[in-house]
Amino acid sequence: MSFEDIPVDVGVIYEGERIRWPDTHVELGGPRITDKFELVRYRSLDEVEDGKITIIGLDIKDVEPGTSLPFGLYIEVAGKEVEEDLEGVIERRLHDYFNFIQGFMHINQRYDIHMRLSKASVKKGMDSFELMGKVIQRLYKMDMPLIEKIQITFITDAEKVKEMYAEAREVYEARDARARGMKDDEADVFYGCALCQSFAPSHVCTITPQRYANCGAISWFDGRAAARIDPKGPIFAVEKGECLDDWKGEYIGVNEMSNEKTLGVVKRVQLYTAFGYPHTSCGCFEAIAFYIPEVDGLGIVDRDFRGKTINGLPFSTMADTTAGGTQVDGFHGLSIEYMRSPKFLQVDGGWNRIVWLPKKVKKRLEGFIPEDVVNKIPTEEDVTNVDELKEFLDEKGHPVKERWAALIEAAVEGAVEIAKAAPEEASILGPIPMMSATVGGFRIIMENARIHADKVIIRRIEK
Ligand code: SF4
Repeated sequence: MSFEDIPVDVGVIYEGERIRWPDTHVELGGPRITDKFELVRYRSLDEVEDGKITIIGLDIKDVEPGTSLPFGLYIEVAGKEVEEDLEGVIERRLHDYFNFIQGFMHINQRYDIHMRLSKASVKKGMDSFELMGKVIQRLYKMDMPLIEKIQITFITDAEKVKEMYAEAREVYEARDARARGMKDDEADVFYGCALCQSFAPSHVCTITPQRYANCGAISWFDGRAAARIDPKGPIFAVEKGECLDDWKGEYIGVNEMSNEKTLGVVKRVQLYTAFGYPHTSCGCFEAIAFYIPEVDGLGIVDRDFRGKTINGLPFSTMADTTAGGTQVDGFHGLSIEYMRSPKFLQVDGGWNRIVWLPKKVKKRLEGFIPEDVVNKIPTEEDVTNVDELKEFLDEKGHPVKERWAALIEAAVEGAVEIAKAAPEEASILGPIPMMSATVGGFRIIMENARIHADKVIIRRIEK
């Protein structure tokens, strides 16, 4: 589609367009900026001046190419049918609408937003938030007729962004808190969201009361509100169907929906695990749970974490492995709110399996990590490499240690079996069935095992 007074095209074909940094005129939010947000609030009809656009701070035309700005986007909507429950749903549509604009990229959500406008589009004349605001207002009115009035404020003034960021965080927290308490078993239906398929075609989110969407922006209640106002839209109801495995969270209805929406790429989904048939990850996840084989535990890293995690990799490297809509064993995209759920990775051990996470995330989850394990999980301030991690877990008596004993036992049993089974004349011993050569501070060595094992050595590794 094109609007006469807008100098670039607007349409679905631009969704998924990536704007590389060298091609960027202005970046709004993103990893270089701490304070950023997008927030939709509902108002009464007389509180909103329809079509109003306000810019607080620098406009696009005021900055040099290659500039990153603090950014706040504050949208107020009104309509007889608009209610508070719809705020989150209306807000998430920004992901679509901004991406429809030629030369514009919108990724992530809420306090994690990251947007870029290309030099090429600015050259064509797309050089003001005024123009961008007009496009967004029109798309909302066309797509969601319940919005009768809309006014938008673009904020790039650092002080103002900071001030409003605090308010935005309170609103997000209140929304999330509203959605807590209901159980998956109590829901007749779940909700699906395919909004991110422009970036990850084989990804579809299943949103349940106890498994918040990966992006952290859509709760089960948001899903219900969205499906009610637009049942054929990108957020839709999913009949649960027969429950195949209550513990793992596998439902026939979810499998069928995933199969259909991913064109057969994802056939099975188990909602409460990071292994086997995990929920897929698009790229908008707030955090990643990643497997640490040396301690048989899971680490957590969020998008805001700078530097290297405990396994030596930064968030961005692990995000490349995790994203894209594939089921990757041991790399699992998730939201902060899902970590507050009693179902949080329950198949894998839940919090008893988490062995590392950033301090800031730990703080945000205060009161949700079980008391008997919270002090046994180190952050970047306690340990900086896997050796230190092992020592910390060992000293604190982290529950993951129980798995180490089982692993050692399995490895020894396996080694003995191989030694027993090896024929006299065999010249090569088969592979040793152990998960790791070093487990929980022990190294297991098979010696002289060409014909049979003379010894199995289990040696504690010195510091
Ligand atoms: S992460 Fe999931 S719920 Fe969130 S917008 Fe993308 S598909 Fe929808």
